[in-house]
Amino acid sequence: MIVLLKENYKEEQLENLRAWLKSMSVDVKMSKGSHQTILGLVGDTSQVDSELILALDFVEDVKRVQEPYKKANRKFHPEDTVIDVNGVKVGGGNFSIIAGPCSVESEQQLCTIAESVKKSGATMLRGGAFKPRTSPYAFQGMRGEGIKLLLKAKELTGLPIVTEIMDLSQLDLFDDVDVIQVGARNMQNFELLKALGKTDKPILLKRGLSATIQEWLMSAEYIMSGGNDKIILCERGIRTFETATRNTLDLSAVPVIKSLSHLPVIVDPSHATGFSRYVRPMAVAAAAVGADGLIIEVHNDPPHALCDGAQSLTPKDFDELVKDVMDIRKVVAK
Ligand code: PEP
Ligand code: MN
Repeated sequence: MIVLLKENYKEEQLENLRAWLKSMSVDVKMSKGSHQTILGLVGDTSQVDSELILALDFVEDVKRVQEPYKKANRKFHPEDTVIDVNGVKVGGGNFSIIAGPCSVESEQQLCTIAESVKKSGATMLRGGAFKPRTSPYAFQGMRGEGIKLLLKAKELTGLPIVTEIMDLSQLDLFDDVDVIQVGARNMQNFELLKALGKTDKPILLKRGLSATIQEWLMSAEYIMSGGNDKIILCERGIRTFETATRNTLDLSAVPVIKSLSHLPVIVDPSHATGFSRYVRPMAVAAAAVGADGLIIEVHNDPPHALCDGAQSLTPKDFDELVKDVMDIRKVVAK
């Protein structure tokens, strides 16, 4: 961190700042010019609140030159993290395809979809039991019963299951869930993130609707600082001025995350675009830019889905998508 002092600072003010930084084990290297004094803060500055320094009336400006996240940072962990989800590897060159309905609706619906996506090449099954809906009158999910059905589908197909937690109070129901999803709306539910940091479950951390990449990585850092480093990041589109798609898929987040972090990053073209016709091209594009996988909504009867039917692929469309994605992976790997 670099601190630029105003010309008329007083020695006593500087000494107070220096003492405060020292209490956090941060050293100060001073460079005094004829008009300007610059302080270089050396050491672990992750606990230093740059806003507090900026608020001092003898400080002109403060610049962070180091990222505020440590555990998620590739600088301190150059090799890719590979997460083992019940034998299915995520990251480090492995390509994961998570597929299934937006919501679990019935045993028959879930098991039919699970068997078909498995046949097409899915490596994990998704399905929401607790649903974050914009309207309180919309289908809220089957809750605990939905998790029981996911476990049945897992038994039937052998696919590990991914499902969303919405509140800490639900955690006990997730004992046999393979990957706990934190949805976009909960990306900054810090108490939830802290609690998940104390579990040893892989976490699928979706990007918040209007979160910067740094905020997203700081949320990963929350989980990691609790001791759980099994995090799969998921780009699912962000809010922009565009209305032709449900969100705007920020595909550049994939190479950016790859350079900043060692964590695997997958892409959700279903929630990003909101329309089934755009899912395949964006899935192919995600594979082309180096994503570690995809999460795709698939429904056996999209027009009658209880949630997100417009963006859900039929099993047949999903089968074609997987073929196209695999083809593009071969080209990109060359
Ligand atoms: C979901 O995956 O069903 C979901 C609600 O996604 P998001 O949190 O990205 O909106
Ligand atoms: Mn959905």
